[in-house]
Amino acid sequence: MLLSESLYEALEASLKNLERPHSSIQSIGSVSGGDINRAYRIKTSTGDYFVKVNNDPLAASMFLAESNGLDILRNPLGAAHVPKTFLVGNARGEGFLLMEWIDTGNKHDAPQQEALGRLLASLHRRHADAYGLDHDNFIGPLPQNNGFSSDWTEFFIEQRLQKQLDMADQILDGTDLHKKFDRLFSRFADLYPCEPPSLLHGDLWSGNYLVDQLGTPVFIDPAVYYGNREVDIAMTKLFGGFSERFYDAYNETYPLQHGWEERVDLWNLYPLLVHLNLFGRSYLRAIQNNLKQYIGANS
Ligand code: ADP
Repeated sequence: MLLSESLYEALEASLKNLERPHSSIQSIGSVSGGDINRAYRIKTSTGDYFVKVNNDPLAASMFLAESNGLDILRNPLGAAHVPKTFLVGNARGEGFLLMEWIDTGNKHDAPQQEALGRLLASLHRRHADAYGLDHDNFIGPLPQNNGFSSDWTEFFIEQRLQKQLDMADQILDGTDLHKKFDRLFSRFADLYPCEPPSLLHGDLWSGNYLVDQLGTPVFIDPAVYYGNREVDIAMTKLFGGFSERFYDAYNETYPLQHGWEERVDLWNLYPLLVHLNLFGRSYLRAIQNNLKQYIGANS
């Protein structure tokens, strides 16, 4: 049996509560591809569902934040672009998030990449008065603080880079990275042009969007907040998986400011520090290389 008895019972009861009293589970299959949670496809007599499961004591808060994030995206983007979430629950210590199952199609052809570029641009056209969000959430399994600030430099240094540097204190022992980041912080405000706070996906690597069988892009696993939109664009470049058509369509819809490509490695210091905290010292070299570009090789 793939699922514990208590989780199976909790899911079966949840499905019956979803206004489908006659729904019964027919089969459960593992879904691979995630690096944080266990994931399953549940086939029932009335349709298919997707469930994520995690035994971490923080799992229910993580899933609640994920579900809130999806709700925030659904409002401007429309229901077709965000999976429905049905329930965040806990079955004897196993947290779970029950969602709509998306039948996926090809992600990489030009029309899908163009649709994705336009979709992200339309998300980024949603603006707020300040950087941040009215609640904290998570980036992967790590806490992400979103206290509002009217100053992007202050927000990105204090709520993003410094928080991850504090978390990485032991890993960084014996390196000169704290010193180098201080140097970066002293010149940070001069390194980028002003952008208004845009609604961001917040964790947009290629594993965090799907394309359904009609070719409609669907965002999953967000870490939403209002921020500089170049941060989302930069993240698409970290591990690849987005074609030139994606960037062209984005730029046709909401042009990026001159020199954005030179700032990709600056913004990606944040996900690289997150990876350092999650997966260890193998990310130190990439962080050093990115830093070098903005503080000089001899600093
Ligand atoms: P994690 O939270 O561990 O990163 P993911 O959200 O990435 O897990 O999901 C794991 C796998 O399930 C991925 O391969 C992803 O493509 C797939 N997936 C995620 N959400 C859905 C969904 N609603 N319907 C179908 N497949 C999904």
